[in-house]
Amino acid sequence: MNLSVTWAEAWIRQCVDVIADHRVELITLDRDIGDGDHGENMDRGFQAVLGKLDTLPAESVPGDVLKLVATTLISTVGGAAGPLYGTAFLKAAVAVAGKPDLDGAAVVALLTAARDGIVLRGKAESGDKTMVDAWTPAVDAAAAAERAGATPVAILVEAADAAEAGAVATEPLVARKGRASYLGERAIGHRDPGAQSSALLLRAAAETAER
Ligand code: ADP
Ligand code: MG
Ligand code: MG
Repeated sequence: MNLSVTWAEAWIRQCVDVIADHRVELITLDRDIGDGDHGENMDRGFQAVLGKLDTLPAESVPGDVLKLVATTLISTVGGAAGPLYGTAFLKAAVAVAGKPDLDGAAVVALLTAARDGIVLRGKAESGDKTMVDAWTPAVDAAAAAERAGATPVAILVEAADAAEAGAVATEPLVARKGRASYLGERAIGHRDPGAQSSALLLRAAAETAER
């Protein structure tokens, strides 16, 4: 079944809850290899999103929800993650603009545009120990699932699984972008906070689609 605006809104509400629930975990990860604010930044941003969701007009489509998230995150998250996630949601919104519901190809387009937005903004490559290391495996898994004829829900589950594996796989890496890059080899053994928050957001997408 295609994913409607009801899913898009449920996804974002789930993101609000999941980020709040994992606030301390994300702070701890960022304290290890950054400045310790990632959980706070993300929670502030998604709480602001929650406050704005009720202002969405009744006739909204999924892209409108994504656009609201983008503008709100850009103006409230700050740091590295604010512009990166803001661009991700903005590009995702553009990729599905005007569509009342999303088939598998549209879901892949959404995820691909989000990842491309992060890369455009942050210039990180795979293996640089950033959120890209969650997004790129997610996009690849989603595209493969779509080519194999998977449903939108199954595509999102594949994406979430791959994002989680990608976040775990940042642990042995040395960082080449962001604050963690100042640490050199001392970043080894720590998971990238942005990759972890990305995996949480994508799991929320899958879980709400499965409902
Ligand atoms: P800050 O580092 O400014 O305090 P956050 O703590 O909110 O911002 O976000 C840190 C996360 O941002 C990192 O864990 C990493 O995933 C991501 N990040 C930082 N720089 C880049 C970049 N150039 N490209 C992609 N992601 C990045
Ligand atoms: Mg930080
Ligand atoms: Mg900071």
